[in-house]
Amino acid sequence: MSVERADAGPELLLKGGHVVDPGNGLNAPLDVAVAGGKVVRVGPNLPTADAAKVIDVTGYYVTPGVIDMHAHVATSHRRSHLPVPPELHTFTCCVTTVADAGTVGWKDFLAFKEEVIDRSKIRIFAYVNIVGQGMVGAPEQDVGEMSPRLAAAIALEYPDVVVGIKAAHYWTREPFDDAHPIWASVDRAVEAGELCHKPVMVDFWPRPPERPYPDLILKHLRPGDIHTHVFAQQFPVLDERGKVSEFMYGARERGVIFDLGHGAGSFWFRNAVPAIQQGFVPDSISTDLHTGSINGPVFDMLTCMNKMLNMGVPLEDVIARSTVAPAREIGHPDLGTLSVGSDADVAVLKLETGSFPYVDCGRAKLIGHRQLRCALTLRAGQIVYNRDGLGLPEWQDAPDPYWWDPGQKRSTRPQSRVE
Ligand SMILES: [Zn+2]
Repeated sequence: MSVERADAGPELLLKGGHVVDPGNGLNAPLDVAVAGGKVVRVGPNLPTADAAKVIDVTGYYVTPGVIDMHAHVATSHRRSHLPVPPELHTFTCCVTTVADAGTVGWKDFLAFKEEVIDRSKIRIFAYVNIVGQGMVGAPEQDVGEMSPRLAAAIALEYPDVVVGIKAAHYWTREPFDDAHPIWASVDRAVEAGELCHKPVMVDFWPRPPERPYPDLILKHLRPGDIHTHVFAQQFPVLDERGKVSEFMYGARERGVIFDLGHGAGSFWFRNAVPAIQQGFVPDSISTDLHTGSINGPVFDMLTCMNKMLNMGVPLEDVIARSTVAPAREIGHPDLGTLSVGSDADVAVLKLETGSFPYVDCGRAKLIGHRQLRCALTLRAGQIVYNRDGLGLPEWQDAPDPYWWDPGQKRSTRPQSRVE
């Protein structure tokens, strides 16, 4: 049957849009054809005659589905106050892949996989927390909870789902001694990363002179490891003259990755705008979406992308840093593109102009003039969000409404119902 389907033409044709697919170097008016949940063709003026369904997306951008590589969606972990349902504020932003950034550690991973990851329509990856109990407060300060061997074992057991190891929320307090080493969370996470050959994502609070930020990115992290929350207030991204600090470039040269990880407290325009104006743009854009950030100042992934756009990052670059770049960082370079044969995770976006305020974590705002808005989201070829009713008829042209048949005690759906 599937061969017949393919021979018969695409199941869905997105027609007339402007494709931005940085992974394939595409930025042009192109159509996208989908069948069997995969992208089957991208090209100019694709024929409509053999397509089962054609959606006119004239005036819209068509991009790969967005990847948010730092969120908290492990709702199975009831002792953590952070997680939000994975399909909340994601499909509405054209997000089709999300990575949970260490809400759970090795002790609770299996429940997360079975109760959330395996049951969700959105694709979910996970960073395993180096702390066995994950993000639950006090145990995050307990070095005895940090097991490189057990965290790595989970990563090796579930290589398709685990994308790295997370270290976070290790504040350190006096005294620093063998029971409470000041670099414990970072170094143990890196040790786990070595054991499972995965990158480490670090949420960090510097504490000079014993634990200065440059040491994190120049000495402790390895190439491919990720510092998330790059524009938080506590990082000396800018030197006293307001210039991007030399060690930021030094770390980037070493291959350390800088991720936005907006969060409830980790994005300040006062760091971000000068850095971006000087050309220092985070390698990837991510939300750190959780219960404490979802009602602001994060809101969602598109708001984070729009902040980048309105600080002067070109549109194509914003898309790249939300698709193909995070795909690479999480070790899945097959994702984040519209390559033929890949899962048809597709974003249809509208670029609007006007006056749009964006707020940061430092009680400041930036008034922007452009806004990307998600109009339609495809996940593996299925429409999971259709804000603009694309492909639907206007109501006057719609088929008869559902008919309630009292004799049959059931309603019948019109044959020509369009999803
Ligand atoms: Zn986080």
